[in-house]
Amino acid sequence: MRVGIGYDIHPLVEGRPLVLGGVRIEYEKGLLGHSDADALVHALCDAMLGAIGLGDLGEHFPETDRFKGISSLEILEHVADLVAGRGYRLVNADCIVHAERPLLAPYRRRMIEELAGALRVRQDMISVKATKGEGLGPVGEGRAIAARAVVLLERSMDA
Ligand code: MG
Repeated sequence: MRVGIGYDIHPLVEGRPLVLGGVRIEYEKGLLGHSDADALVHALCDAMLGAIGLGDLGEHFPETDRFKGISSLEILEHVADLVAGRGYRLVNADCIVHAERPLLAPYRRRMIEELAGALRVRQDMISVKATKGEGLGPVGEGRAIAARAVVLLERSMDA
């Protein structure tokens, strides 16, 4: 068994689409970043890379033209391939999105569907929770959205 942790935060700005867990969310602002700035997917990717000791997302997907505007679900698919290539598979992933607004509960189920799809795992292996910042810090002040993820991997039988 291998465990991994991931964290990410992006600023919320006007004129950008908001994408979290691969789901486009209706909101007046979006996350600023080189890719689609999907903090949830980035945290999950970093947790998976950490679990197999393969560094971090910035190492695998540097901020070059090649990855500009890339869908983070594509990045997650690539990370899933790296994990499988190392002979590991996901046991479960538990994720938290920290956002003051918008309300994410209506999108939770679809995020799980998208994440499980990209990872090619059952949906009950993925948990996505949302919590507010209670007015505190950049998240609570509505200036950023952050995400955390913890994953557990196990050696696959066929490795
Ligand atoms: Mg990021």
